[in-house]
Amino acid sequence: MIDRIGRRQFIASASAAGAAVLAGRARAGDDKPALLGGRPVRRGGFPGWPSIDSKSEQAITEVLRSGRWYRGGGRKVSQFEAAFAELMGAKYCVATVNGTNSIATALAALGVGPGDEVIVPPYTFQATVTAVLQQYALPVFVDTDPETFQIDARKIEAAVTDRTAAILPVHIGGYVADMEAVLAAGKRKIPVVEDACQAHLAEYRGKKVGTLGNAGCFSFQVSKHLCSGEGGAILTDDAELAAACYGYHDCYRRRSGFGAFDLARVGGRGGNLRMTEFQGALLMAQMSIIEEKARNREQNAQYLTEMLKEIPGIRPASKYEGTTRIAYHMYMFRFKKEEFDGLSRAKFLQALRAEGIPAGGGYSPLNKEAFIRAALTSRAYQRIFPKELLDGWEERNQCPANDQLCQEAVWFGQNMLLGPRGDMDQIAEAVRKIRAHAGALAKA
Ligand SMILES: *Cc1c(COP(=O)(O)O)cnc(C)c1O
Repeated sequence: MIDRIGRRQFIASASAAGAAVLAGRARAGDDKPALLGGRPVRRGGFPGWPSIDSKSEQAITEVLRSGRWYRGGGRKVSQFEAAFAELMGAKYCVATVNGTNSIATALAALGVGPGDEVIVPPYTFQATVTAVLQQYALPVFVDTDPETFQIDARKIEAAVTDRTAAILPVHIGGYVADMEAVLAAGKRKIPVVEDACQAHLAEYRGKKVGTLGNAGCFSFQVSKHLCSGEGGAILTDDAELAAACYGYHDCYRRRSGFGAFDLARVGGRGGNLRMTEFQGALLMAQMSIIEEKARNREQNAQYLTEMLKEIPGIRPASKYEGTTRIAYHMYMFRFKKEEFDGLSRAKFLQALRAEGIPAGGGYSPLNKEAFIRAALTSRAYQRIFPKELLDGWEERNQCPANDQLCQEAVWFGQNMLLGPRGDMDQIAEAVRKIRAHAGALAKA
């Protein structure tokens, strides 16, 4: 994962950083890469995350003192559900313990279960797939479009079988999947559950992602753009689905105003996945900053792209027609070593970090993860699925484009986009400097 700089460390070094930058500029001509003993482009950290303010502190204290810590006794979680649904343009919202279980809840409420297949992308955080395995369903991977880092939606239809019970696209990095093609592939008969856990406020044709499919799932884990340590939510416009999600997450209690659900269809295997009032109150406070932060990231990311796309060998992730807003949970691009004198990605990342620019290499191929193999060879899966289906799973789930992408990807964390525009100039400067010395760095 991405290196994160502690908030306190950032505050301590922020003012020193400005001075160091100026000093760096004054010594023009000294452009040797930091990895080879030159001066780093940047000293000091990037803005910290999460954003800690007095409004959040007050919100937590208020709940603490009230003694109403549970959603049944208070109003904070339901207030948050109403506010989040309104902000996103959805009819219903069910808050949950986390993003993983919001996906699991949506799938369960749609009746996805043992013997079913669920279509997923391989370029995602592994929770997308663990939520499928929680239902004893079979994940079916559709390869990645390397230009966008998203599921290659043109390939979904070929992966559909009579077992396909849901399509689970992910808006990875807060960029937007090709939703028109996703919805067309399921011909609107196969339910679509959007994993929007990284994509708060991203939009497709002017609508917020997470409101385009049958259900949209969000995470409020601390790294996400709206966060409360842990937390999650499901959005939907379907009253029966909202009721079923609510029931599943609260031991099958019903909720007034959410319609009714068919207990026989959802199978009665729900549990307690309730959010606490502390989280509800904290999320209400954090909601007041998400638009401003989103704009900040968006402006910086667009400016950064203008610079990076001019550097040969750097390919910023592109967007599909229809994408009207990107959330930039990560800033993602491909690094082509052929155009960097054969410099390896690992060395490129090392050189960037030496310049004071933390960067990561992103995900490794999810379809090859041992935990999936372990699930598929478990006694339960062996009983549920025909042997031929499980034996042929590996062959059927090859994702060559994704394998290649996993070797070329580079990420910057969302917090790096929260500072002034000059930070972007420094990122671009570091990349240009590394490219100018790529041959020497490759040999070092
Ligand atoms: C964070 C995340 C999840 C899981 O959310 P948790 O709240 O951590 O359970 C699922 N999918 C994606 C793409 C995520 O980034």
